[in-house]
Amino acid sequence: MSQTQNDVQKTPGQNGARNYSGVQTYQGGCSCGAVRYEADLDLSNVGRCNCTFCTKYGTTGAIIKPAAFRLLSGKEQLSQYGREGTPNQRSFCKRCGVHCFSEGDLPELGGAFCSVNINTLDDVDPTHLTIGYWDGRNDNWQAGMRPSPWPFKS
Ligand SMILES: [Zn+2]
Repeated sequence: MSQTQNDVQKTPGQNGARNYSGVQTYQGGCSCGAVRYEADLDLSNVGRCNCTFCTKYGTTGAIIKPAAFRLLSGKEQLSQYGREGTPNQRSFCKRCGVHCFSEGDLPELGGAFCSVNINTLDDVDPTHLTIGYWDGRNDNWQAGMRPSPWPFKS
């Protein structure tokens, strides 16, 4: 069978990984399948955070503008959780408990944002990604991401 154009685009990179650089549209969802979403992400820019939420949840996030995130299904299945008095809310599937994304507003991150938990993306192997680290526990957002994890107390 001859190779089609579609096969060529799916050819893995030299290390066996898909090419994740640049903004691409990905789909993802929770474990039980109730919550499904689509997002325009650059997976060369993903990070973990040491804040009390992210440490317990074990998420790896890609921060995007809210307009780059589209919930496809499961709105009625979502529950929100966050610190009282802040606009930063994490969404969970009420059935399987998986946290797919959060929404918030931080001036240091350019205002309103959505953070997608890239562990919930379809067909993305996080071990092929370079992870950066935020010092969210100390609200040290202006420091940006660095290559090694921040201690709880900076
Ligand atoms: Zn679910």
